[in-house]
Amino acid sequence: MTTPTTTPVAEGLFAETAAGPRLLGSKCTTCETPYFPKAAICHNPNCNDSKLEDAEFGPHGKLWSYTVQYYPPPPPAKYDEPYKPYAIGLIDLPEGLRVLAQVSTVDPESTVGGADVELVIERLYTSPEGNEVTTFKFRQS
Ligand SMILES: [Zn+2]
Repeated sequence: MTTPTTTPVAEGLFAETAAGPRLLGSKCTTCETPYFPKAAICHNPNCNDSKLEDAEFGPHGKLWSYTVQYYPPPPPAKYDEPYKPYAIGLIDLPEGLRVLAQVSTVDPESTVGGADVELVIERLYTSPEGNEVTTFKFRQS
C-alpha cells in the first residue's frame, strides 16, 4: 500500500513558504511591472530594459468581482465527484496584479464582492490513484 501524496496542479505557480502561502511570479526591476505567472520578458511597451527577477505575491487581496460556477466545467478541468458549485473571482492584489482564482467558501452563495480575501492552498481534486492535487484559492476572510 502506498501513502497518498499531495502534489501541486502545476509546478512553479504557488508555494507554501515560511511566511505562508504565496503566488510565484516575477517582477521587472526596471519598471516594477509584476507578472503572475512568471514572465520571460517584460511586456510593458514603455520599458526599454527588461530585467526580470523572481517575486512572491500575496497573501492578502480584495475580491474585485466573482461568479458562481453552477455546472461542471468541461475538460480539462478536474474536480471531485459529486460536483459542487464554487465561486470563481478576480482578486486584486496590492502588488498591482488582478488574479483569477477559485474563492474558497463553505457556501458560494455567501461570497461578497469587495471582500477582503486571503491566499490559501487547498485540494482541487483527488486523483484516481488517491493523491491530493492542490491549487491556490482565495478565502473570504
Ligand atoms: Zn519592465
